[in-house]
Amino acid sequence: MRVGVPAETRPDERRVALVPEVVARLVDAGLDVLVESGAGRHAYFSDEDYRAAGATVVNRAAVTDGDVVVTVQPLSVQRAGTLRSGALTASLLQPSAELDLVARLRDKGVTSLSMDLIPRISRAQSMDALSSQALVAGYRAALVAADRLPKFFPLFMTAAGTVPPARVLVLGAGVAGLQAIATARRLGAVVEAYDVRAAAAEEVRSLGATFVELKLDTQEGVGGYAREQSEDFLRRQRELIGARVAAADAVITTAAVPGRRAPVLVTADMVEAMRPGSVVVDLAAESGGNCELSRPGEEIDHGGVTIWGARNVASSMPVHASQLYAKNVANLILLMTGDDGTVRPDFDDEIVAGCCVTHAGEVRHAPTRELLEHRPSQVARSAQSRTAEEGDDE
Ligand code: NAD
Repeated sequence: MRVGVPAETRPDERRVALVPEVVARLVDAGLDVLVESGAGRHAYFSDEDYRAAGATVVNRAAVTDGDVVVTVQPLSVQRAGTLRSGALTASLLQPSAELDLVARLRDKGVTSLSMDLIPRISRAQSMDALSSQALVAGYRAALVAADRLPKFFPLFMTAAGTVPPARVLVLGAGVAGLQAIATARRLGAVVEAYDVRAAAAEEVRSLGATFVELKLDTQEGVGGYAREQSEDFLRRQRELIGARVAAADAVITTAAVPGRRAPVLVTADMVEAMRPGSVVVDLAAESGGNCELSRPGEEIDHGGVTIWGARNVASSMPVHASQLYAKNVANLILLMTGDDGTVRPDFDDEIVAGCCVTHAGEVRHAPTRELLEHRPSQVARSAQSRTAEEGDDE
């Protein structure tokens, strides 16, 4: 069976879905790997590296002709239309944000798997792309904070006097937050952190940081995630954490609740109470922002405080982000590959069932199916957008 690796087309995407080392594993398992010429160039993998690993380098039209097509970002609606019926595709698809694409994949009879939906169970850890990419983002967040702060992170005792270490506050201590804590600690900062999940306290302490105890109930949800918090809870949290934010040189926010807008933890008033020169790094900027003022992909100055809004952070470290993602993708493909080298998804396997969005002309992911059923029909939507455009013209 042929596994195709197209070049990513989103302008800010530098990762590639399979790296040469991982291609070699798939070739050993009996799969043919087709890589679009130039697919790895932004992650510094050349066509020659892929050929040496056993791949065939092909042009743009041939790469989506495979039985399996793997990408980092989901394919465009138009490109999805070029897949063969019965083909399988895997990417970081967020189905609720890509309804037109999901409808096209369904109508084409494509089996689509979302690396975003891999269940967080022990057996699936080697396929957990959310964790591997969050690790990259957390590491990067600490480096951005250190880079933007006009101060040292570590303590220095010099002949010219002693410089105290920077104080870093991390809000949200999941995968990205813990990596931000570990990295800031390695750079010598004094770190404190808070999370609404009780289990996070021990993990924060094990990294040499202080867990900030707030007089608030924990907010555990299902599957080890946080549950959505009430506006009253968040107001109280902001009141209690306000003094810690004001005392920090750098605040790194990573708080998220699956399927929900990110909670606002740092308001404009709180930023205004920070010392000029301080930094806020908001890893949740793309999902609404933990800081009221952050904008995804932008760095802004608010009264001398730098606010850095994340956008596609993992792509800014494309070598290791691609390497980890490629291993996640390959492990999923190999889970579905039989001894005869045929990729055959087994929907009795909870990993495959959990991450499948479309298969055999149906949307299998129930929340997405409901969204598609309840959205206005294509005709009604075209009429709506025409009306909106006419309104714009006025
Ligand atoms: P996430 O990205 O959904 O959220 C990041 C963090 O924000 C979470 O720790 C959450 O508790 C926290 N948060 C939410 N609201 C907050 C608020 N108001 N204030 C402060 N913090 C807030 O989560 P994630 O990083 O993807 O993972 C979270 C959990 O899942 C962790 O327990 C992690 O260990 C677990 N996990 C398990 C597996 C596995 O078993 N295979 C894999 C990965 C992660």
